[in-house]
Amino acid sequence: MAVPSKTVRMACRCGRLQLRVDAVTPSVANRVACHCRGCTQFAHDMRPEILDAWGGTERFQVSPARIAITAGRDVLACRQQTRKGALRWYASCCETPLGLTLRDAKVPFVGLDIHALDVGDPSLQAVLGPLRARVNLSPRPDNAKAIKANPAALFSMLRHLIPLTWRWWRRGEQRHSPFFEADGTPVVSVDRRYERMPALAKTAGCR
Ligand SMILES: [Zn+2]
Ligand SMILES: [Zn+2]
Repeated sequence: MAVPSKTVRMACRCGRLQLRVDAVTPSVANRVACHCRGCTQFAHDMRPEILDAWGGTERFQVSPARIAITAGRDVLACRQQTRKGALRWYASCCETPLGLTLRDAKVPFVGLDIHALDVGDPSLQAVLGPLRARVNLSPRPDNAKAIKANPAALFSMLRHLIPLTWRWWRRGEQRHSPFFEADGTPVVSVDRRYERMPALAKTAGCR
């Protein structure tokens, strides 16, 4: 039976910045937890409590065209930790991480941080779908398969995400992002942390 789509609402910790994601179903969302050094560093700089029980940052990836910033646009902020790293979006009012995009606005997906959502809520579980994979967890723990940190889970997650991203790109959904202007410039000036802080050690992942 098809799961009815749902509007998912998110807010920063203090409630000033609010987002809405329209028409979410498991078939258009990709739920994934990232353990790369960049994601872990960012969480530690902002709010370490967002990390899950295994130390990962859990996100659901959706098309930017489904996302609207409904309040607090003035406190939207963006940080880049390494020269080639992802753009990390957060609410500057209370330093709440909101999500991640690639540097290149042409890649049409946004990974929204799940920490603000109650994923214990069965109705939310139903619209976001199951966690598909844990990526960049190293060394791989003994229970890797049980927590989806194994290659089979990664492969299955990519088999879901890649066709979705391709479809969004073909529809031009990358041009309807609340995070980028039409010409691909980020909508706020990017805080380039790497210009004033020691470099993160080189690892795989979002950096
Ligand atoms: Zn806030
Ligand atoms: Zn990461």
